[in-house]
Amino acid sequence: MDHETFFRRLPKVDLHCHLAGTIRPATLIELAHKNDVPLQTSDPDRLYVFDDFYDFLDVVRTAARCLIDHDDFARVAYEALADAATAGNLKYAELFFNPTDYYPSGVDYRTMLDGFIAGLRDAESDHGVTARLIPAINRELGPQTARDTVAEVIADRRDEVIGIGMDGAERGGPPGLFGEAYRMAGKAGLYRTAHACEDNQTLEEAPPSNIATCLDDLGCDRIDHGYNILGDPRLVQRCSDDGVPFTVCSHTCVPSRLTTRWRNVRRMLDADLELVVCTDDPPMYGTDIGTAYVTLSRELELPRATAIDLALSGIDATWLDDDDKRRLRKEFTTEIAMLTARLPA
Ligand SMILES: [Zn+2]
Repeated sequence: MDHETFFRRLPKVDLHCHLAGTIRPATLIELAHKNDVPLQTSDPDRLYVFDDFYDFLDVVRTAARCLIDHDDFARVAYEALADAATAGNLKYAELFFNPTDYYPSGVDYRTMLDGFIAGLRDAESDHGVTARLIPAINRELGPQTARDTVAEVIADRRDEVIGIGMDGAERGGPPGLFGEAYRMAGKAGLYRTAHACEDNQTLEEAPPSNIATCLDDLGCDRIDHGYNILGDPRLVQRCSDDGVPFTVCSHTCVPSRLTTRWRNVRRMLDADLELVVCTDDPPMYGTDIGTAYVTLSRELELPRATAIDLALSGIDATWLDDDDKRRLRKEFTTEIAMLTARLPA
């Protein structure tokens, strides 16, 4: 077995992946046709080409509008997990979805949730991959909509829904605005994370202090992205000391930003921050969980042992309970030992 195959077959978790960003191009074109939603192009090779981050956000929200009924949501969740299990031996995922992306099409929370959960269950029985859901706040819609989103989540609790997240353009909604929504979620027993300090935003738009706000005021126990933290060495030290997990992604919406991303992930790793390798929006960014490990291993020249450490420490960053973490760790170590035994001496 060669090294690329090894990295691809390493068992993995993915804790930063948006369901609306997982839709296969062919599936999106079919759903758009079925539900009569106009797309910018019906060429599957052009569908996921973006000018910049804001163009990407427009496309992902258009994609979300193509999901209308229970089966649409079930299909998207199923294919997300099936593709990740096949391409990168994904074992467990915590998947984001923004309820507010689907409301404009008249979809209610229960329909999207029932559909997603049905897809997750079918994928688990067909592919042995399990997942939980993280409803996410769109920060661009402001604090009142955030509170409404969290209230909806609390009013319809399911075992599969374990926490809340927050995404959207950071310059449009600094985390300090969302304290009340996060307090509501915390009181209801939901875990909390948030996108902060993504490197497509400047240090002024997404300053490191946003990470401190997420940890101290929003009660987040992990951070999605976080690259701009490198602008504040004291905060880096604090997060390293406290073992705060950062869900970093190997790919971005525009290829010209890839080298910056890899350099930032390298620096975060060198600073002893706890990193979980993730996909964000796999087909939209031309990646999958296997490619994420292959790419970072190549670009960061990671030794095999480091990639194994990353795969295993990802389990600690999940929101699973201790028994489930132990089970997953046992499954991972058994598979890793078998893979290692097949490597050339
Ligand atoms: Zn994201």
